[in-house]
Amino acid sequence: MTCARSIRVRGVVQGVGFRPFVFRLAHANTLAGWVLNGEEGVEIHLEGAEPALDAFLRDLQAQPPPAARITALEVRFAEPAGFQDFSIRESHSRAQPSTRISPDLPVCDECLRELFDPLDLRYWYPYINCTNCGPRYTITQALPYDRHNTTMSNWPLDEACARQYHDPGDRRFHAQPVSCPACGPHYFLMCAEEIAVADEPSIAATADLLRCGKIVAVKGLGGYHLVCDAANHAAVLALRERKYRKEKPFAVMAKDLASARALTHLTADAEALMTSSARPIVLAPARIALPGVAPDNDELGVMLPYAPLHHLLFAAGAPEVLVMTSANRSSEPIAYTDDDARERLSEIADAFLIGERAIARRVDDSVARAGAFGPVILRRSRGYAPGAVARFAADRPILAVGADLKNTITLVAGGQAFVSQHIGDLDHYQAFEAFRETIRDLLSMYQVRPEDLLIVRDDHPQYVSTVHAFELPAAERRSVQHHRAHIASVLAEREAWDEPVLGVSFDGTGYGDDGAIWGGEIFAGSIARGFERIAHLRYAPLPGGDAAAQHPVQAAAGFLLDIEGLPSLAAPPFLFPQRYEVARQLARTGVRTFLTSSMGRLFDTAAALLGFQGPISFEGQAAMWLEHIARTAPQRDAYPFPLAGAELDFRPLLLAVAEDRLRGRDPGEIARAFQLGIAQGLCGALETLSRQAGIDSVVLSGGVFQNEMLLQDIQSVVADGRLRVSTNRAVPPNDGGISLGQAAMAAMGATDR
Ligand SMILES: [Zn+2]
Ligand SMILES: [Zn+2]
Repeated sequence: MTCARSIRVRGVVQGVGFRPFVFRLAHANTLAGWVLNGEEGVEIHLEGAEPALDAFLRDLQAQPPPAARITALEVRFAEPAGFQDFSIRESHSRAQPSTRISPDLPVCDECLRELFDPLDLRYWYPYINCTNCGPRYTITQALPYDRHNTTMSNWPLDEACARQYHDPGDRRFHAQPVSCPACGPHYFLMCAEEIAVADEPSIAATADLLRCGKIVAVKGLGGYHLVCDAANHAAVLALRERKYRKEKPFAVMAKDLASARALTHLTADAEALMTSSARPIVLAPARIALPGVAPDNDELGVMLPYAPLHHLLFAAGAPEVLVMTSANRSSEPIAYTDDDARERLSEIADAFLIGERAIARRVDDSVARAGAFGPVILRRSRGYAPGAVARFAADRPILAVGADLKNTITLVAGGQAFVSQHIGDLDHYQAFEAFRETIRDLLSMYQVRPEDLLIVRDDHPQYVSTVHAFELPAAERRSVQHHRAHIASVLAEREAWDEPVLGVSFDGTGYGDDGAIWGGEIFAGSIARGFERIAHLRYAPLPGGDAAAQHPVQAAAGFLLDIEGLPSLAAPPFLFPQRYEVARQLARTGVRTFLTSSMGRLFDTAAALLGFQGPISFEGQAAMWLEHIARTAPQRDAYPFPLAGAELDFRPLLLAVAEDRLRGRDPGEIARAFQLGIAQGLCGALETLSRQAGIDSVVLSGGVFQNEMLLQDIQSVVADGRLRVSTNRAVPPNDGGISLGQAAMAAMGATDR
C-alpha cells in the first residue's frame, strides 16, 4: 500500500548538498515525490511503502551531508498524489533568501581523494569542489545562490562538468562553483619579473620558495595570506619587520592533525574544533617553541588545511608548519583583490601565488578556543559567517552596527540574526570602508530596504559606528549601552529572552550611563526587562582617557593614585618612567582625566607593577603578558579583592602586588595570586549579589574573559556552589559580539537603563 509523508527539515540545510542527498536517498528507497528549498528549510513530499518511508527518515537523520546541521524535523501524514518518480523542484519564488547563504566549507574527503588520483579529471586541480564542500559566501555576489551570481560566472562549464552539474545522482549536481582544469580558473606565480603559469608548476615553485625562507602572498578563500616557514626564525623576523607587526602572535597552518598535535596540547574538544567544518585557528597550549611566532604567549594558534590549494602546497613539499597570517600591513583589513594585494604587499612578499577566481568579499580566518566553559569563538569569520546565530521574534528588520573595535554588524531579517564576518578596528580608514561595504552587502543580499530598518548603535557619541548610524536612512534609531550589549549577546545566542541573570561584563573600554569609562560592571535583569547595574569596579581616575590603553603606566597612575602605603615606584624594582609622574599629576589635578571602572586597565596596572611598561602594540597585550607569566607559577595564594557595598575594591589587591614585588617575590607568583584574587573576589561578590537578587544564573562576557586562566579559576571556584555560569559560544566575548547583543536588546524593546 502506498503511504505518503510531508516533511520539513530546518537548520543548515541549504547550499550544503541537501537536496541531492534527499534525491539519492529517495531513489535508494524507491520512493516517489519531490524536494525543494522552502521559506523555512527544505520541504519534502514522499510516497511509497511504509518500511521504505521509515528507512528514509532513519537515514536522513543518521547520515546527512557533512556540512548540514538538522535542528528540527517535522513529519506529517499526507495524501498520496500518485507520483511516479522523485524530482528536485524549483524553489518557492518567495523563498526567504535569508536561509540560503552557507558559510564556506573545507574540501571534503572525496574531493581530496580525487585531487591526488592521477587518473581523475581534477588531479592536482586547486579549485576542486562538490556540493559537500568548497567556497560559498566568499564567491556569492547576489542571491539566489546560482552560478551566474558567483565569481565563477566567467568560466562556462565544459561538457564533462556540465554532465555532472545536471546529473541528480552525481556529487556535483548543482554544485555552483564546479569546474575542472579544462574549463575553470587556474593559479599562477609572480616572482619578480618571472611568471610561472599552470597550477602544478606554480604551486611546486611556491613550496620551493617557502623552503628557502621566502615570504609568499597566497590567495586563499576569503583573502590573501602572507606565508612563510614557521620554523625559519629569519623568515619569521623578516615578516614581522616588513609587516610592521612587532609582537602580536602569528597563526600557523599545520600539515595535518598529527603535526598539529606535535605543536600543541590538544584536548578532544580542541581537536573537534580544529577539524570542524569551520576549520578555525584554534588557540591551544604550545608544546614547542617557534621563535618569533607567538612571543610572550603560552598558546599557539593552529589551523589545518581547508582549501585544496593548502593540501597541494604541503604535498608539493612546503615546510610542515607554515606561518599563515592575514595579508595586510599592521592592523589594516585583509587584502582580497589582486590589484590591492600586489600594491599593498609589494614591500612584504617576495612572490605572489595568485588564483584567477575572484573573491566576492573579504573573510578572515576565524579564531576559537576549547575553553573552560566550552568552545568559544574569539574571531567569527570564515566558516561561520554569515550563518544565523539565533532566531528572533522581530517583526521588522534590525541592523546593529556594533562597536568600534573588533567590529561586526548584525542584521536581523526574516526572524533570523545574521552576524557578519569580523570587520576590524574602525579607526583604520580601510576598515571603516569595509564596515560600510559589509552593511551594503548584507542589506542587498537579504533584500532589506534601509528605510525599513531599526538601527541600533552603541551609546558612545564619538564612535565612528555611532556617527555612521545617523548617516544611514532608517525607520527608527536606538542605542544600547556597551556592557549591557555584552551580557545580552550571551543570552541572545541561547534565545533566552526572559531569563533573569547576574551579568558580569569585564572589558577594556565602554561608554557608561554616567559618561564614565566603564568596563567592570555587574548587572541584574533580562533582555526583556533590561539590565540594572548593581555593582561595579571602584572608580579610578584615568589620565588621558581611552588613550591610556596604550600605556600601562598611565593607567597605573590613576589606579594607584589614592592607595596609601605604596612604595616609591620610580625606584627599583619598579623603575616607572617619567610618563607615570606626568600622568599622576594629571590625575591629581583632574586635567584630561576621566573616571573608569575598567577591568582591562586594572590588569594593565598590575602588569605595569610587574615589569610590563609598554607601550602596547596590540589590544590586550599587557593582560596577555600577565596571564603568560602567571602560568609559570603554581596556584597558591590569592590577593584580596573584596566587594564593599556595591563596589569591588581593587586597592587591597594592588597594594599586595606592589608590596610583594618590593619584597622580591617572583613576578610569576604575584601574577598568579593576582589572577586568582580576581576570580575569588568576583565569585564571592556574586554569591552575595545572588542572594540579594534571588538569581543564581550568571553570565560572563567582555574582552577580559578571553583570559582563559581567569575562566579556569572561576570554574574551579564555582564548581561545587549553586551558581550556574555561562559564557559566549557563538559570538566572541570581545567586542565582536556587541552587535548581536545590541540587536537583541532592541528587538525586545528593552530600554537602555
Ligand atoms: Zn567535495
Ligand atoms: Zn570542466
